[in-house]
Amino acid sequence: KRPVPSDIVIAMSQIPKDIDLMASEIGLMPSEIDLYGKKKAKVSLKILDRMKDAPNGKYILCAGITPTPLGEGKSTTLVGLVQALGAHLSKNAFACVRQPSQGPTFGIKGGAAGGGYSQVIPMDEFNLHLTGDIHAITAANNLLAAAIDARRFHEATQTDAALYGRLVPTKKGKRQFSKIQLGRLQKLGISKTDPAELTEDEIHRFARLDMDVDSITWQRVMDTNDRFLRKITIGESPTEKGKTRQCQFDITVASEIMAVLALTTGLADMRERLGKMVVASNLNGEPITADDLGVSGALAVLMKDAIRPNLMQTLEGTPVFVHAGPFANIAHGNSSILADKIALKLVGEDGFVVTEAGFGADIGMEKFFNIKCRYSGLTPNVVVLVATIRALKMHGGGPTVTAGAPLPPEYVTENLDLMEKGFSNLRKQIENANKFGVPVVVAVNAFETDSQNELELAAKLAKAAGAFDSVPCTNWADGGAGAVKLAEAVSAAALQPTNFKFLYELNLPLEEKIAIIAKEIYGADGIVLEPQAQKRVELFKKQGFNDLPICMAKTHLSLSHDPSLKGAPTGFTLPIRDVRASIGAGFIYPLVGTMSTMPGLPTRPCFYDIDLDLETEEVYGLF
Ligand code: ADP
Repeated sequence: KRPVPSDIVIAMSQIPKDIDLMASEIGLMPSEIDLYGKKKAKVSLKILDRMKDAPNGKYILCAGITPTPLGEGKSTTLVGLVQALGAHLSKNAFACVRQPSQGPTFGIKGGAAGGGYSQVIPMDEFNLHLTGDIHAITAANNLLAAAIDARRFHEATQTDAALYGRLVPTKKGKRQFSKIQLGRLQKLGISKTDPAELTEDEIHRFARLDMDVDSITWQRVMDTNDRFLRKITIGESPTEKGKTRQCQFDITVASEIMAVLALTTGLADMRERLGKMVVASNLNGEPITADDLGVSGALAVLMKDAIRPNLMQTLEGTPVFVHAGPFANIAHGNSSILADKIALKLVGEDGFVVTEAGFGADIGMEKFFNIKCRYSGLTPNVVVLVATIRALKMHGGGPTVTAGAPLPPEYVTENLDLMEKGFSNLRKQIENANKFGVPVVVAVNAFETDSQNELELAAKLAKAAGAFDSVPCTNWADGGAGAVKLAEAVSAAALQPTNFKFLYELNLPLEEKIAIIAKEIYGADGIVLEPQAQKRVELFKKQGFNDLPICMAKTHLSLSHDPSLKGAPTGFTLPIRDVRASIGAGFIYPLVGTMSTMPGLPTRPCFYDIDLDLETEEVYGLF
């Protein structure tokens, strides 16, 4: 076998075509793209108006088995599949992927552009700043955080009338309410539009938020793995008059604004979702929103470019949208609805859009169906489930691995028993996908050391478990050519009738919806709501938030809540420790165990290897 060079060496050796050429190839008008350099462009949402009557292409979700430290190669398989469809089978094919966070890129995981001969390029730009969307989210998120604490400060030191004056801008000498303020008045049941008509009591209710400091849930963010910001004290300068409080930084991709970006369906919808984001409660337990703070218009301004998907390309010159990358645990871990929608129009009726769900299918796919599809109104045609022989062996009880050390023999020599044991995980994920009424194609991402017998057994077991088809692919080593069989299987599956259905109705009580996911998808006997979770469920019901979809925050390393349980565990009860809400994004997220929203750097971070060639200005060391 020929050796495969490192990801960055492969990525750098292919010169991408200019992105305006790509844009015209896929039918975009010059007025619908904004170039960011030569190899990236943002596309206009107006494409959706222009093409509103055009039929959608086939919508394919790429998900995977429960991840192991061995890596399954989901992004690699997705990119290889799109290269096969587009560059080898001459179909119109689009990949829609998430923008990676810089935290993992410099930390432990590395980039997320795929790998080997199946990558999005230029991979350094993909993995670094791209077009600044994540920076825009950081800016918007932190403006809101600053607004919260500034408001707390001013309410403590100023009279209602002064606060009120501050809120109402003057126009030609006459004081007027802004649109946001009128909305807030309406919410308070005050139907007056002339500021002069407000009574003292109404001014008080309008001007003051009476925030319950302990209830503030909005945190500051940045896109760096900086563990020392997991708990901080703010307001320590004497100018803040003792209004210190403890809070934290989260990684930017965990910001609710990232989830809003991923789930929004247009500018007006984004503006509304940003306004609805709940940041705290007042002393009566009522929610306080970004609109109440008067900041949501400014947030929309900061996000107006980020809402447009970013056009890039694969190593084989097929189009890719890179857009949004919400944290896969406390948020839904899927790329944007808008990118999928635009791509589905651009590929046309006979084309394919392959979009990726983060983590294992029990998390990413379940959230794709129950959250993303609910908000987009799109229905998928096929689920591709990515697995590797090695990962199945680990699910079957294979030994743990240490980074940098040679792999134990189980993973590099034939072992049908171990693989068959671990197949329980893939079987459960296939059955889960079938519960949504969508055909499944299993893609076995083949490694050099996999035996023919192992690949054949995996295919046999997958079909017996209810998969429409199961195919090995070698696109990491061979590019799109190595995924042609997969592309053919996906094309055939896409012609199957689907019977798409959600797993639960939105109007069921919150705890019932959580129990349905736990039992049906994870294989739990039931759930137990711990006291804090119970309290929150009551609060959210009282605040009118019962009817939102559920976004489980659970470990991705097991179908259960215990990361050490591999395969398909049974006989467990899922503990729900706490329940939180992302009202603007539009979901309730139960916490199963503790979830870190700020990763740390390992002893040997990826940044040790990253540097710049000072002659060519090329980046090396990324993977
Ligand atoms: P995931 O999306 O599941 O996190 P990626 O697609 O990002 O995984 O792949 C993780 C890493 O594994 C990449 O560096 C990629 O080059 C490598 N990889 C993927 N598939 C193979 C394969 N078949 N053989 C060798 N390395 C692979």
